[in-house]
Amino acid sequence: MRVEEMRLDGNAAAGALREIFAHDMTTALVTCAGCARASPMGVLMNYGGPMGVILRCPHCDTVMLRIVSTPGGRYMDASGSSVMLIPERPT
Ligand SMILES: [Zn+2]
Repeated sequence: MRVEEMRLDGNAAAGALREIFAHDMTTALVTCAGCARASPMGVLMNYGGPMGVILRCPHCDTVMLRIVSTPGGRYMDASGSSVMLIPERPT
């Protein structure tokens, strides 16, 4: 299977993101460290698969967020994201 065939959008990472952030993060506004453009998490390109989640910028392809599950826990690398705006939960 080619990498392009494995690609989904960030909405496919909703389950993994919810486990870490305890609520739906697909509406969070995240700014790319590569091109400084902001996008909702749900529109990032998801290249994850069995190994975890790799979310890339839809504008410049920078890796913005990685989540890898191991027997010892989950690793999250957000070094490709400069700012993350998490919306308030509706009351
Ligand atoms: Zn970018």
